[in-house]
Amino acid sequence: MVHQCQECGISIGFNGICYRCRNKNQREAYQAMNSEEVEKMVESIISNIETTGSWDQVSLDFNGLLGYHDINTARIAQAAFDKGIFYPAAIYRDASPEVRDQLLALLLDPVCEEANHLQLCLALQGDGVVLEQFLRLEKNPLPWRSELYVNPSVYAHHSGWSFDDQGNRSSLYFEQCYTMLPGDGVDQAVKAGQLLEQHCPHCGCRLIDILRLDGLDERFSFLAVDGVLAIPICPNCITFTEETFLRYGEDGRSEILLGEPPFETENYCTEADLLEMSQNQLTLSTEAVPKYYASGGDEVITIGGWPDWVQDVQFGTCPDCSQTMKFLAALPWDVLMDGSEGTLYIEICTDCRTLYLFHQQT
Ligand SMILES: [Zn+2]
Ligand SMILES: [Zn+2]
Ligand SMILES: [Zn+2]
Repeated sequence: MVHQCQECGISIGFNGICYRCRNKNQREAYQAMNSEEVEKMVESIISNIETTGSWDQVSLDFNGLLGYHDINTARIAQAAFDKGIFYPAAIYRDASPEVRDQLLALLLDPVCEEANHLQLCLALQGDGVVLEQFLRLEKNPLPWRSELYVNPSVYAHHSGWSFDDQGNRSSLYFEQCYTMLPGDGVDQAVKAGQLLEQHCPHCGCRLIDILRLDGLDERFSFLAVDGVLAIPICPNCITFTEETFLRYGEDGRSEILLGEPPFETENYCTEADLLEMSQNQLTLSTEAVPKYYASGGDEVITIGGWPDWVQDVQFGTCPDCSQTMKFLAALPWDVLMDGSEGTLYIEICTDCRTLYLFHQQT
């Protein structure tokens, strides 16, 4: 039996409101909260901190407050530490120096059994003291290192920063973040899913500019792109491709550099799909949003900020300068095409004008 979403009218298999409208309503409810309501919710998270690792109301609330209100997590971190809770690591983002030192003391125990979670929490806090200790542990590993897959430097990536063997730190994402929400389409600063004339050499599907953004728009000044940045892809093959590198000109022309061919070349993308994608009215937010906006709970496109990873954190290496690339944008496909799965991630090296694209899904 086909029903219609009571809010947006799309066809759904049940009586009520669709997944997208539900997420949107929830986001708007968090966004509408005033500072007293936020404070009350922080208190409630603190008193129910034991349940924060399970996917229930407390973790939804925590993500909502982090994503839409950019809350300071210091008191939540203290409460979690007091109860020996080290998951999710985001709790420790604003951990105090005291909590940081207590986490470090646990980690520096040669037979530490929580080294995985502790490093994730410490990476989130990520201040100079953490960097110093990570560097030391990278050079002089403790016995627990043999139980883990990766070095402390890779744990740092999980929180969006990296360091070299001299202890120089760099950020793997932009502090500024913007989102794209349904609007009137008048603001042309960025378009998502614009149809192109060219066809894909692998599957024949029409190509799209998954993003085409005007680097000269003031909101994108943090990107240091002196013109138009276009990101052409094959919407069909991109989900069957491990990784794709592009080089962008600032004249809106970009070329695919290298990358493995797709492991499947059948075209599943119909004309109707292409039309749906290209006719969206997604519009760049007029103001910047908090940098963890993507973790708030609603599936939204974000440009800048820190993404919500479907799978593990993943960073490309620039094919030109070999540096770790920087996160640029994440596009959950469902936003462009109802019912589609997974998220496209885009990373950038502005020094070499290269882009790195990959798809993740559960
Ligand atoms: Zn709906
Ligand atoms: Zn293709
Ligand atoms: Zn580079």
